[in-house]
Amino acid sequence: MKRVYNFNPGPAILPVPVLEEASKGVLEINNSGMSILEVSHRGKDYEAIHNEAKERLLRVLRLDSNIYDALFLGGGASLQFAMLPMNYLKPGINADYINSGSWAQKAIKDAKRYGNVHISATSEDSNFSYIPRTYDLTPGARYVHITTNNTIEGTEWTSLPDTGDTPLVADVSSDIMAKVLDYSRFSLIYAGAQKNAGPAGVTLVVARKDFLEEAEADLPSMLSYKIHAKNNSLYNTPPVFGVYVVGLVLKWVEEQGGLKAMEANNRKKADLIYSALDAHLDVYDPAVTVKEDRSIMNITFRLRDASREKEFLAGAVERGMEGLKGHRSVGGFRASIYNAFPLEGTEALTEYLVQFAKG
Ligand SMILES: *Cc1c(COP(=O)(O)O)cnc(C)c1O
Repeated sequence: MKRVYNFNPGPAILPVPVLEEASKGVLEINNSGMSILEVSHRGKDYEAIHNEAKERLLRVLRLDSNIYDALFLGGGASLQFAMLPMNYLKPGINADYINSGSWAQKAIKDAKRYGNVHISATSEDSNFSYIPRTYDLTPGARYVHITTNNTIEGTEWTSLPDTGDTPLVADVSSDIMAKVLDYSRFSLIYAGAQKNAGPAGVTLVVARKDFLEEAEADLPSMLSYKIHAKNNSLYNTPPVFGVYVVGLVLKWVEEQGGLKAMEANNRKKADLIYSALDAHLDVYDPAVTVKEDRSIMNITFRLRDASREKEFLAGAVERGMEGLKGHRSVGGFRASIYNAFPLEGTEALTEYLVQFAKG
């Protein structure tokens, strides 16, 4: 099997053992004579896959299954931008949002339809190139929303904000399972799986059971956390293939040594690339200059000489590196190096960065 160094931001690289196992599952699951694409979502083969993926998810995040529940939903992280406020806000109810990037902005836009959104902090003044250090939280707010890793801009939170009694909720789409983090600080997190956790089509929602209990009941069924939780994410047909692959990714994460191993590897990979950029600042312009805020998942940079962008990208493709083009809203380059991205791929990019700078 030919593999490129896949720097795509999402859908993104998955571990090879997961792809191999999933390809078998596409043919047949559990000697059932049926593919994962063919089994009933109410049958015992799928039931075991579903419940095991859920247990693994909570275990990997080190969350107590008596306190937390995990849901597998459709609609992407983008649907959560609306679903979260629909379930917890009303006209006159406040929520605090920290505006740290383009995805946070989208979450804010949708939340405004349902309640009073207070922007507690923003780094928009400098193209979201840092994580706000101070924020103005509203006493009694329904929740505080953050984006733990800003996929497009390449920043991440290194320590979580202290929100006191106010529930902390987060979009963790691009760094779920990337490092050791006290996930019990959150009342609810959500993630589109296609960055670090699996294929597109399934969204993970992990929340405190007591927080889910408080969700709005008077909603269309498919938009109600309560209904999905009550039905173990089987109210309708869940994204079965996505859940299956997420389960395989979680198994892989556990076999590798869990979040601690993921973090060690991710830091090593990110350090290599950032060091190469920082060593050649005459050629490269790292987008995030506050080093502490630099993402270990998405590394963003520009060339000082923008006229060489095409040349840079073509040279990367020649060396088997795909997906380095930056997001259309920010330009430049972005190396997304999620959990499954191999160390040798970051070594190859580092070598190329040095070579390009010298040439
Ligand atoms: C990719 C991404 C999204 C959007 O995810 P979809 O599943 O495509 O809706 C939202 N938030 C963050 C932080 C992302 O990286």
